[in-house]
Amino acid sequence: MDHNPHSDIDDDTAARIEEARRIFSGPISFLKSAPGLNFLPPADVPEVAFAGRSNVGKSSLINALANRNGLARTSNTPGRTQELNFFDVGEPLRFRLVDMPGYGYAKAPKDVVKQWRFLVNDFLRGRAVLKRALVLVDARHGLKDVDRTLLDMLDEAAVSYRMVLTKADKVKATDLAIVTEQTAAEVRKRPAAHPQIIPTSSEKGMGLPELRAAVIEALD
Ligand code: GDP
Repeated sequence: MDHNPHSDIDDDTAARIEEARRIFSGPISFLKSAPGLNFLPPADVPEVAFAGRSNVGKSSLINALANRNGLARTSNTPGRTQELNFFDVGEPLRFRLVDMPGYGYAKAPKDVVKQWRFLVNDFLRGRAVLKRALVLVDARHGLKDVDRTLLDMLDEAAVSYRMVLTKADKVKATDLAIVTEQTAAEVRKRPAAHPQIIPTSSEKGMGLPELRAAVIEALD
């Protein structure tokens, strides 16, 4: 690194961030889409999942983490694709990223919402290799009831999760601090939640080193 923006953090954290940067700049490839549980890849390596409302910026964030465009595809029909997308990281394979189907699309038909619930619930309850879910929330909006539904499912399935704020470039620093604190205060009461929130912007690259490190940390 020619410039270390983390000079105020300890050596251990800096080493973790560098290790994560190295892993994410290595091989990452799309493996498959699973529209149902019988299409899942073998549960042979740890997995870290990304979840959030449609349009929260999930595809952009996955692409930004991996530093490549078009890895995760932005859906032009939000709330329609009820699929889990799997990405292999590392050669040899180290772990998988799971792009979970977006939710909360206002115009989604009832059966699509139902299908989302079944797919996500079954996946969360049955996937022993799933180490953590990163739950994305738009920094402009904060937690919504549709997000709380997912958090309830995660708590009930005892899947550890951590909140990530997206599109942080769209809010003022003072408002970002407020939404971060509000989100932290709310998840503090929840059993499976990680206490720290990660603010990010795919657009500006903010929080990406920390988020990469959070993915690697979840694998331990
Ligand atoms: P997904 O539906 O959750 O996968 O969301 P997308 O990644 O497709 O992003 C939805 C919209 O938000 C797109 O128009 C993106 O360009 C925009 N977007 C995503 N991330 C950011 C960000 O960090 N900052 C800003 N300003 N816009 C973003």
